[in-house]
Amino acid sequence: QGKKDGRGTYRFFESAMDEELRARALLERDLREAINEGRIEPFYQPVVALPGRELTGFEVLARWRHPERGVLPPSEFISVAEETGMIGDLCYDLLRRACRDAANWPSHLQLAINIAPQQFQDRWLAEQILAILNETGFPANRLEVEITESALIQDLEATRATLTSLQNLGVRVALDDFGTGYSSLYHLRELKFDKLKIDRSYVNTITMSEERAKLVDAIIKLGSSLGLVTTAEGIECSGSLDWLEGQGCDFGQGYLFGKPMSKAETDRYVENGPAETAARQQIAA
Ligand code: C2E
Ligand code: MG
Ligand code: MG
Ligand code: MG
Repeated sequence: QGKKDGRGTYRFFESAMDEELRARALLERDLREAINEGRIEPFYQPVVALPGRELTGFEVLARWRHPERGVLPPSEFISVAEETGMIGDLCYDLLRRACRDAANWPSHLQLAINIAPQQFQDRWLAEQILAILNETGFPANRLEVEITESALIQDLEATRATLTSLQNLGVRVALDDFGTGYSSLYHLRELKFDKLKIDRSYVNTITMSEERAKLVDAIIKLGSSLGLVTTAEGIECSGSLDWLEGQGCDFGQGYLFGKPMSKAETDRYVENGPAETAARQQIAA
């Protein structure tokens, strides 16, 4: 049909593009509104210490509680927030709420928050974070920020400056999704992180192949020889957990311990401990 009627096809594409632009504009407007009205909500995923498997804190993961579409994951809106410059507002609002939520939890529990690459180029990042810590009374030494390697590629000097200002406040900095970037070793040499988070794509396969397992083992050793602690992301089975623990990985995170949860669920998790909630989740699944 398109071949015979060239013009009709052209018009069809044009209107399809219009449609796409309209949808995008609507999404941006909805997201702006959601941020302003507090519908971007912090969810919390447990982090445990591997020897002992004790709960040590949570990673804050953004969820959009959408009135029509339900609870939306970050893949639906974080890149839009980044492209439109809304990510700062989104992040600071999330951090503020998370610090308030955490006020009810035992004081040894830590919070980790994800920082978008472009935020790391912002010379006021540390100041903004400090203002939120002061406002909420959450101590800097209970906060960790996570950045991915794409943040480092943009401007090494700006990144180094932000990293240092955060660490001077007492905030720890983790390199997230380690192993998925393309110059990991270079960045480890140039910048002083506190933690390496080994990407889920490595962790999931350690029980499947010996080569993968060797690679993960090497990352753990690399981390500890540089004085960094390591966290394995995406632990889903106890086989992987036992192995990681045996190799000396310091922390673990994954569905085995718990999925990202709302504040209410997290309150219960904190009260009942990981085991019971995990069991309940397995029954529910
Ligand atoms: P991330 O920081 O690497 O977070 C871990 C992601 O892996 C989360 O996905 C989590 O739900 C998922 N995950 C954890 N354990 C398991 C597991 O055992 N199995 C599987 N299949 N998945 C697991 P989520 O919440 O969809 O977040 C995706 C990404 O979105 C995050 O990856 C992070 O890069 C980004 N993100 C989330 N919240 C924020 C935010 O507030 N700001 C920014 N800039 N990025 C965020
Ligand atoms: Mg993260
Ligand atoms: Mg990660
Ligand atoms: Mg990841």
